[in-house]
Amino acid sequence: MMPPHRKPPLPPWFYDVPRGTCRLCGQPVTEPRRIYWHSECLREFLIIIHQRHQAVLEASGHRCGICGKPLEEWEDDHIIPLVDALPHADDPLWAWRLGNRQALCPDCHRAKTAREAARRARWRRRTLQREILFVRSVT
Ligand SMILES: [Zn+2]
Ligand SMILES: [Zn+2]
Repeated sequence: MMPPHRKPPLPPWFYDVPRGTCRLCGQPVTEPRRIYWHSECLREFLIIIHQRHQAVLEASGHRCGICGKPLEEWEDDHIIPLVDALPHADDPLWAWRLGNRQALCPDCHRAKTAREAARRARWRRRTLQREILFVRSVT
């Protein structure tokens, strides 16, 4: 199994884009006074790279993404967990983007993490059973 990559990767084209191309999304930049970034892409990139958790809280309107209660204590959650996030060639950062992030209250975060762990354990058990059946069928 692939090890979970926790640090956001730079897109492979990051340092090689020609003038007028966005380093994050690889699309042409037509905004005035911008050469290598769309304003929105730069904003999101800085949030991702500098781990600005506060931006996740603001994007959630300071409410828990599951139970909706106003947040005092909160945690930064990846909606699709990084360990399950498949790499995407067109957008290597998709799993870190705000679209895959939500602010959760500690209770909901704990419950979600437990559900995800249980799902992975079930999957591992099933895979193991299939491997055992396969080994029996060929020996
Ligand atoms: Zn862009
Ligand atoms: Zn909650």
